[in-house]
Amino acid sequence: MNAPAAPTPVASAALERSRLAQRLRRVLRGEVRFDAASRGRYATDASIYQVDPVGVVVPADEADVVATIDLARELSVPLLPRGAGTSQCGQTVGQALVIDNSVHLNKIVGFDPAAATVEVQPGLVLDQLNAFLKPHGLWYPVDVSTSAQATLGGMAGNNSCGSRSIAYGNMVHNVLGIDAVLADGTQEHFGPFGADARRPMGSARTAQLVSRLFELGASERDEIERVWPRVMRRVGGYNLDVFHPRSERPYTPDGSVNLAHLLVGSEGTLAYFRRLHLKLSPLPKHKVLGVVNFQSFHRAMDSAQHLVKLGPCAVELVDRTMIELARANPVFRPVIESALIGQPDAILLVEFAGDDRARLLERLRRLVELMGDLGLPGSVVEMPDEKAQKALWEVRKAGLNIMMSLRGDGKPVSFIEDCAVPLEHLAEYTDRLSEVFSRHGTRGTWYAHASVGTLHVRPILDLRRGDATKMRAIAEEAAAMVRQYKGAFSGEHGDGLVRSEWVAWQFGPRLTRAFETVKDLFDPQGLMNPGKIVRATRMDEERLFRFPPGYQVKPLATALDWSAWNVQADPVTERTTAPGTGGDPAQGFAKAVEMCNNNGHCRKFDAGTMCPSYRVTRSEQHSTRGRANTLRLALSGQLGAETLTSPVVRETLALCVSCKGCRRDCPTGVDMARMKIEVQHHWQSRHGLSWRERLVAHLPRYATRASRLAPLMNLRDAVPGLARLSERLFGLSARRSLPRWRRDTYLRTRPRTPAAGAPSVTPTVSVRPRVLLWVDTFSNHFEPENLHAAERVLRAAGYRVEIAAPAPNDPDRAALCCGRTYLSAGLIDQARAQARRALDAVLPHLAEGAVVVGLEPSCLLTLRDEFLALGLGEAAQRLAGSAFLFEEFLVRERRAGRWTLALRDLGPRQALVHGHCHQKAFDAFTPVLEVLGWIPGLAVSPVESSCCGMAGAFGFEAEHFDLSMRMGEAALLPAVRGASPEALIIADGTSCRHQILDGAQRQAWHVARALAQALPD
Ligand SMILES: Cc1cc2nc3c(=O)[nH]c(=O)nc-3n(C[C@H](O)[C@H](O)[C@H](O)COP(=O)(O)OP(=O)(O)OC[C@H]3O[C@@H](n4cnc5c(N)ncnc54)[C@H](O)[C@@H]3O)c2cc1C
Ligand code: SF4
Ligand code: SF4
Repeated sequence: MNAPAAPTPVASAALERSRLAQRLRRVLRGEVRFDAASRGRYATDASIYQVDPVGVVVPADEADVVATIDLARELSVPLLPRGAGTSQCGQTVGQALVIDNSVHLNKIVGFDPAAATVEVQPGLVLDQLNAFLKPHGLWYPVDVSTSAQATLGGMAGNNSCGSRSIAYGNMVHNVLGIDAVLADGTQEHFGPFGADARRPMGSARTAQLVSRLFELGASERDEIERVWPRVMRRVGGYNLDVFHPRSERPYTPDGSVNLAHLLVGSEGTLAYFRRLHLKLSPLPKHKVLGVVNFQSFHRAMDSAQHLVKLGPCAVELVDRTMIELARANPVFRPVIESALIGQPDAILLVEFAGDDRARLLERLRRLVELMGDLGLPGSVVEMPDEKAQKALWEVRKAGLNIMMSLRGDGKPVSFIEDCAVPLEHLAEYTDRLSEVFSRHGTRGTWYAHASVGTLHVRPILDLRRGDATKMRAIAEEAAAMVRQYKGAFSGEHGDGLVRSEWVAWQFGPRLTRAFETVKDLFDPQGLMNPGKIVRATRMDEERLFRFPPGYQVKPLATALDWSAWNVQADPVTERTTAPGTGGDPAQGFAKAVEMCNNNGHCRKFDAGTMCPSYRVTRSEQHSTRGRANTLRLALSGQLGAETLTSPVVRETLALCVSCKGCRRDCPTGVDMARMKIEVQHHWQSRHGLSWRERLVAHLPRYATRASRLAPLMNLRDAVPGLARLSERLFGLSARRSLPRWRRDTYLRTRPRTPAAGAPSVTPTVSVRPRVLLWVDTFSNHFEPENLHAAERVLRAAGYRVEIAAPAPNDPDRAALCCGRTYLSAGLIDQARAQARRALDAVLPHLAEGAVVVGLEPSCLLTLRDEFLALGLGEAAQRLAGSAFLFEEFLVRERRAGRWTLALRDLGPRQALVHGHCHQKAFDAFTPVLEVLGWIPGLAVSPVESSCCGMAGAFGFEAEHFDLSMRMGEAALLPAVRGASPEALIIADGTSCRHQILDGAQRQAWHVARALAQALPD
């Protein structure tokens, strides 16, 4: 791994490391992870840096933390507390022993709704706290964009700030107290002090510490007065202004000292936060939004200072680049266009919140008036409706995500992303900084918090090719401007490695010395996260970069086509070079892996899919980020000579259920499911396949024969002892039933009509397209009634239905197959052969206007996804454009006016619908809800669930059974159990239905069966 910084003596030699690990294992109940891959996964955060930590501790409880701190002190090993590791400045990387709070130290310890306070452990995630508070009409209002994964400890560590900081302040304004553990083992509660240091402390050590701090505050008062930036968004340095309030928004109502506020923003350098006491706010009952359209970016920036006078809780910028990105997306286009007047250069989203809706509407009206007074009449789109507002906020978030998904080695780099300047200078500052970018041959997209003068911007730089020089030059010019405007260089994301060297620049030598004194008073041995805020390295220390100049990837011959990632991008136009020209020795695979920028979004727990294995394990290793980092380290030889074929890599991917949640939910589109296929290919080429893997992979080959012997094949679940035998022989869990083979397969029992083996002689004259029904192995052999149902529905609606059958000249007469089971086993050649057969069979029909319609999401969507990565060219693209899931097809037909069938009322019933992960990944879930909505009287509600946990063969594997059930129990199974006995349980995935049957003893249906039942008599 990259050469680490060495700010203090460290036990880094392998021997000392292993001795430390042994000692820790002896005293801790939690995990102690010192292997290279584990360290590597904690060597990065959302910054540009990578530093190999000494090791990682995942404490089981607070006693573990105290024991770790004690041992570290005894052995002089630096410590680095960590939450989600989403810091952008490198504050969570360092040559230290990392303490990961996020796994177990995430409890709400005390809650007083009347006083609106809460006491939490540091690893609790903000969204989880707010979900708990919502029923009480309260929330914790520091609404960082990373709320789904950021921990309260990390937020306090960074003095984080949310979009609504103008109304609620930063962390420092919302922390009441901190129970801290100092590096010397002292435990103390830091909280309100009043005017002086006379409050009794828990020990002589802290009494002395506090009195020295007060002395320091008094002696530096004049310098604080002289130097301190007068903006609310200043998070650099230590908050010495607790002793002489300088923030636009005082930390305490009466300006008195709260020493917890000195700890806030200390980035793990002063103390470990064991508990946080937080101040809560009432949840506003209503919100209204005004979208102000500007023909010039400059005008938008200039207006911010006037808009804030109306008392909004947010003023957020979306610039033209983001508007265009949203417009280019068919899903977002209608939403963004509903907010636009003509072709604006920028829009400002001005939000008002409160309990009195009439007053909010009045403020919206005043916004319209104000814009008229400012010479921009008719520039405001009023959005009083909260649903419309939510959709627009989603667009703003997605725009940023698209920007972050730029392919190639040049990336938008965060290093001056959050400078804060007083609003009256915002327009000039942004103009001048844009000019600086252009002088350096790059460009930045602006967004975010216009209300507080903190605009985010990331110029595109390629640090592998020497752009560190440009980074420093741009930072210097930006800093000069910030100084001129009396702003703050670090206005949101903290100091870390990228900005600590600027602390001296911002505060001058005297306060820098005072900061060093603060550090030494708390942590005389220099053990807490050394090298941050004080005594820092340079921001452009290339040996600390994740991608330093000369970064090398090992050559790799890939089995899938990754050339779309193997490109370079122009930093100004963002246009990419042709696929395959990016110079990746791993043919684009390494660059696809490197798309992970460590933002940590895959650690979220909301309604999306990503990442089910992280959700149940909470282990960094089993998050998408952990996997991407492991692959990156392996591909670049940082985990040893073996790249993809090492057991470390296999172990890291073992719990990835290939749900493709990341393909959709990851802001940069990391598609770990596809990566797993590539890795599995290399693994099996080197190590071969297990019996179980073969049994599953070749299922389509033997399925027809097996179904003829169905009674025999099904004995495993009927004869006592056989299930246990199958577990011993093949590793198939004895606690699972297996899918039941059927003799009456669909292909055997289907009423005889011409198959689509040969194109029809005369092209179809019907306006309705001819349907080629994709008969997947699972539906055909295990649940043929689904295919029958789908066929009945399609025919009843007037469609000609044929089977997608092998081409007449296909020597292999077996049914067509999507190849998914081969792909999962890494048998890519076999999968490609199946894909070729499918293309040969259906393309002539597609040319005649036929479409392919399938039932099983993971099979049908393989035609739209993995087929495109098999190097099959244009033909695969054509099929992808004409392959639909059953319900997608029906929705399409109804929109085109070709579906006219009226369905029958099934009586007042409820349908509880679970979406297959691949449906969600391809935005193909809502059609299920839509078609069910066509059944009169049926109340349709989706289950807010991630993966069901079965995930193909995963849930059948003995070693994964428990985890599989935990995934199911996370949301799906309790929801099914809670449904009324008459409710229809709908799940389109065969494995999802199996999981529901095993876990909740309810028979779920494919949507086709519900529609078939509602067919008119
Ligand atoms: C895409 C993106 C968007 C972001 N948006 C925002 C935003 O809107 N507003 C914002 O303010 N930030 C934002 N950030 C930065 C970051 O997400 C926040 O600072 C977040 O609060 C960090 O939380 P974390 O759990 O990841 O902390 P970490 O990154 O793990 O830690 C942050 C700091 O806190 C220290 N720390 C953690 N736990 C403890 C503890 N128990 N005791 C003492 N110190 C501790 C760490 O040592 C570290 O210095 C963004 C980052 C990304 C990648
Ligand atoms: S995998 Fe995606 S969501 Fe997870 S950290 Fe990487 S970029 Fe972010
Ligand atoms: S495919 Fe699913 S399980 Fe695998 S990394 Fe992505 S989100 Fe996680």
